[in-house]
Amino acid sequence: MAQTWNPASWRDKPIQQVPSYPDMEALKTAEARLASFPPLVFAGEARKLKTSLARVAEGEGFLLQGGDCAESFAEHGADNIRDFFRVFLQMAVVLTFGAQQPVVKVGRIAGQFAKPRSSDNETKDGVTLPSYRGDIINGIEFDEASRIPSPERQIMAYRQSAATLNLLRAFAQGGYANLDNVHQWMLGFVKDSPQAERYRKLADRISETMDFMKAIGIDSESNRSLNETDFFTSHEALLLGYEEAMTRVDSTSGDWYATSGHMIWIGDRTRQADHAHIEFCRGIKNPIGLKCGPSLQPDDLLKLIDILNPGNEAGRLTLIARFGHDKVAEHLPKLIRAVEREGKKVVWSCDPMHGNTITLNSYKTRPFERILSEVESFFQIHRAEGSHPGGIHIEMTGKNVTECTGGARAVSADDLSDRYHTHCDPRLNADQALELAFLVAELLKG
Ligand code: PEP
Ligand code: MN
Repeated sequence: MAQTWNPASWRDKPIQQVPSYPDMEALKTAEARLASFPPLVFAGEARKLKTSLARVAEGEGFLLQGGDCAESFAEHGADNIRDFFRVFLQMAVVLTFGAQQPVVKVGRIAGQFAKPRSSDNETKDGVTLPSYRGDIINGIEFDEASRIPSPERQIMAYRQSAATLNLLRAFAQGGYANLDNVHQWMLGFVKDSPQAERYRKLADRISETMDFMKAIGIDSESNRSLNETDFFTSHEALLLGYEEAMTRVDSTSGDWYATSGHMIWIGDRTRQADHAHIEFCRGIKNPIGLKCGPSLQPDDLLKLIDILNPGNEAGRLTLIARFGHDKVAEHLPKLIRAVEREGKKVVWSCDPMHGNTITLNSYKTRPFERILSEVESFFQIHRAEGSHPGGIHIEMTGKNVTECTGGARAVSADDLSDRYHTHCDPRLNADQALELAFLVAELLKG
């Protein structure tokens, strides 16, 4: 694997999950245009995220990663972005208090468009069409024209990502993320929650801490860190032509960076060691995520770690465990032991979504109690192995959707049809996401 790398070297490798574009010339033209566009994120920001994740790998922090399963063109609007960010910040405050450690905030946003699918085709009422692969590739509508991959969609995804990022930067740096605001929103949530009693204790302790800080003169006027926050973007690096076009040399270090997002991850279906997605990711210097599902064996994981992080740099690699509530106890311990035995520095994060998908009333859904159960097992296993449960990775929205069942304001199987809006997998709604944060905060306190 010591072969030379370049942003296009993945093209010589076997590859999974490739859309069939009908017009390869048009695809080339779109990729060339993308390559001439400004970067969305900067290498220095990716390095800053890596430094923060390095602290998590050392046991000194917690990673909160979350957002849509798939962003969509149709739902691109300020309200959606604001509502997501608002819930996400509240989760971060609750988790910070629970962990008594810095929380690294990484959205699945501003680039999370391409979706791996379990089947190339979808059949409905006797009609078979190519599967929907995310708005960056084709359209979700079940008709022939929509399902044809269109390169122009990559340009649209780039522009949407730029606009989303612009608003997120304004929110993060412009005063909206002020700790007093986030605290007030959080109190509003607690007051209205059917589980208010359970959450009030932690909420009260946060309030007292804030009052104390104010009393001794630490407030958002005197302290920049209370008025703004660091927020990073991430997505699955699935559509490699797009990623290649957005890969640039950093003028400071001379290294290659993906500039499509701060962190990118490799999906559970595309992590074959000798295939294209691993080849692409090994050459860029951003923090990388690797989804670890039930088929991943310890030896294969170690091989992937050596390819993706040969220098064993802390913060470079986040292992995102996504086994399922009933499988995590069987699979996670042996992976942790292999990593510990070889002294590999990684962040361990728990994705309790992708191994817990079931179908109810013909809707894909995820029961909240299974999601929580996987997170609980993740914590227990790490504590038993003496390793650091370093983060969670979730699919969520700031809206009041009905996509996952359960939660304090229980969504039932019959409710799923009310507000089922996701373009791909079922997301936690705002209440369920915050509730999860409170429950994880309890786990973090040990
Ligand atoms: C996802 O994160 O949306 C996803 C497809 O995950 P996985 O690769 O773990 O199945
Ligand atoms: Mn998903």
